[in-house]
Amino acid sequence: MKYRKESIDNIRYIIKIYGIVQGVGFRPFVYNKAKDFKIFGWVENVGGALVIDCTGTRANIKHFIEAIVKKPPSLAKIEKVQCTFMKNELSFDELVNNSNFIIKKSANDKNQTKFVSPDAAACPKCLEDIQRKGTSRYRYAFTNCTECGPRYSIIKALPYDRPYTTMQAFTMCRDCQKEYDDPISRRFHAQPNCCAKCGPKLFLTESNGEQIQCEDAIKEAVKLLEEGKILAIKGLGGFHLVCNGRNEQAINALRNRKHRRDKPLALMAKDIEVVKEICHLSEKEKQVLISNKRPIVILKKKAASILPEGIAPKQNKLGIMLPYTPLHQLLFNEKLNLLIMTSGNISGMPIEYKNEEAVAHLSKVADYFLMHDRDIYIPADDSVVRVIQGVEAVIRRGRGYTPYAVKTETKKQIIAVGGEQKNTICVSKNGYTYLSQYLGDLEEFNCYENFKYVLRHFTNLFDINAELLVHDIHPAYLSTKYAKEQNLKRMEVQHHHAHMVSCMAEHSIYDAVIGVIFDGTGFGLDGAVWGGEFFIGNRESFKRAGHLEYVSIQGGEQAIKEPWRCAVSYLQAIGNDPSEIIQGLEVEKIEVVKQALDLGLNCFFSSSIGRLFDAVAALIGVRNNITYDGQAAIELENIIKEKVEESYSWNIEKRNGVFLIKYKDIIEGILKDIQRKELVSKISAKFHNSVSEASCALVCELRETEGINKVVLSGGVFENQYLLRKVYESLVERGFQVFHNEQIPINDGGLSFGQLHAVSAIMEREG
Ligand code: ZN
Ligand code: FE
Repeated sequence: MKYRKESIDNIRYIIKIYGIVQGVGFRPFVYNKAKDFKIFGWVENVGGALVIDCTGTRANIKHFIEAIVKKPPSLAKIEKVQCTFMKNELSFDELVNNSNFIIKKSANDKNQTKFVSPDAAACPKCLEDIQRKGTSRYRYAFTNCTECGPRYSIIKALPYDRPYTTMQAFTMCRDCQKEYDDPISRRFHAQPNCCAKCGPKLFLTESNGEQIQCEDAIKEAVKLLEEGKILAIKGLGGFHLVCNGRNEQAINALRNRKHRRDKPLALMAKDIEVVKEICHLSEKEKQVLISNKRPIVILKKKAASILPEGIAPKQNKLGIMLPYTPLHQLLFNEKLNLLIMTSGNISGMPIEYKNEEAVAHLSKVADYFLMHDRDIYIPADDSVVRVIQGVEAVIRRGRGYTPYAVKTETKKQIIAVGGEQKNTICVSKNGYTYLSQYLGDLEEFNCYENFKYVLRHFTNLFDINAELLVHDIHPAYLSTKYAKEQNLKRMEVQHHHAHMVSCMAEHSIYDAVIGVIFDGTGFGLDGAVWGGEFFIGNRESFKRAGHLEYVSIQGGEQAIKEPWRCAVSYLQAIGNDPSEIIQGLEVEKIEVVKQALDLGLNCFFSSSIGRLFDAVAALIGVRNNITYDGQAAIELENIIKEKVEESYSWNIEKRNGVFLIKYKDIIEGILKDIQRKELVSKISAKFHNSVSEASCALVCELRETEGINKVVLSGGVFENQYLLRKVYESLVERGFQVFHNEQIPINDGGLSFGQLHAVSAIMEREG
């Protein structure tokens, strides 16, 4: 009778949890909570979801569900929870016989929505484990558990089980297997579980790949770094080139060997104290820095910092991350607390991730290699983020941030192949969109091969049978060419519309907006190079309501690498003689461009804000030639020091129903300031202010005529923080609702996401 009473009080629920719930220690977590709240039943992975059958008292069930949903394991990301009340409560017999809670073996269901956890930084408990002398994890570089370690980079296929990862090559020893099988262990079903006895091993080699015999490869590597040597070190998503961040000679050697003259090098600091010593750090920036995604965070350099200039020439910011694997942690000591950690590649090529290829390609750059025998299946660069107005804004999605799954309207299976530079791909299925890692500039050597490899892997992983391919309208992009070669239905999306939709989709905006898209290069509907665009539109379509007035720029692709060509073009357009104004160049060179402009040889029409920034940078002597993408504009922003409210006069003209921002007055204002020998820092600020003011005025005009109050800011030029903040704040002041990209890159890394959502909106309407 006593049991009978209890069974009446009990209730039963089936709970289905969707999201990143597998491979993150969810089942042992549920098991432990079930024990805490005296719950009977089972937990099981079904397809991509976690299913719990639970019976207990009403109060206990309530607390149990709350405990699971409100504070899930740290790597879990819950997308949806479904609770179904079961009338057929467990019978007396079932209750007595099942008076415990069990973890059932995985079942697989092909049609379930798939989620994959990104790689995660070593957790504090694992970092403690590697300090424990006398254990098989003491100083063991591959220590991990269900809360941390490699995931996406080692997964070959789903379901996430050891045989489908690159850890398949290693057989767990008895102790590891015991942890793996023990439901209350932190390493219960931790697929990459291993220790020094049974797991991957590190080794040190000469630059030619010849192994060096030594007791402790890490200790040896540290010694070499202290001596100023350059090491190629295999990490989570690929190789890094590493040297002491305080050793000027080593840094210069690395730059010379890598043929990387000016582009900033990323740093890894021993701990947060070291970061604070060299950079300003807000609370939010600190949180992002220590999160288990461990991105490179762009931080403001402290003026007094005494670091080698070679880390980031002419920059007032530094890109810093914290150690994210036990291996990284073990590289640091009191003396060696700051390392250069730049992607292990030859400039332009994809990051190296295979041992033999790394040695083949990097032997002239690295003095030594610190490698291991755990294969990286899919490479991913470090992610790059910054904090803007207290919000994390991702500039490059890579390790720790990939893959990124977001809910979407369409149930269709679509592949969007993105742009040409900073390429990413995006796929959709079952109402979810998945964004890939950064794949670099496709026209660079081997990047296109890598693009195809990742595309194949990505579509296999998420089991995509594409009905449709989406690409940019630029005919020469390799991604466009790829799409055209496939035997599939295709749709194209204009570059800046894709930028606009990338921002709308991430902020769940469906109605019409004013899109302000400031960009370097993008193919326009009229064949011109667009990039200073004011659109009215929604996800499906747009109207070009305004733009920066066209200028004829000479030099084709060369003009992007040689900002002085932009300066000559702008000066010629407003009737000034460039030869008298531009400094530091042979007059003959300028004359050739002038003549070509007159004849219209190798010229293109441009409304690109990027090219306008280039022109101004060259005009005021900041930079005539660049060695990395966006360099002139970046340096132009960086020279702004003091608070300047002034601006140049500007004007807007309406021609054939389209608003044009005229540049003549702005350029002439700058020329006057140059004559007056005004400080370049002030000229730069005034120029930024002018662009911002003119843009805001144009947006206000559009609000008048269109009655739209929502503004979306996107495009690579908005990586310029001064400009983004200025435009954002001015618009908010005028009562606009303003959005900019946050989780989706504001640069071309966001194009595939925008393309996919533009097309899925069209398909939803058409049904
Ligand atoms: Zn072991
Ligand atoms: Fe773009």
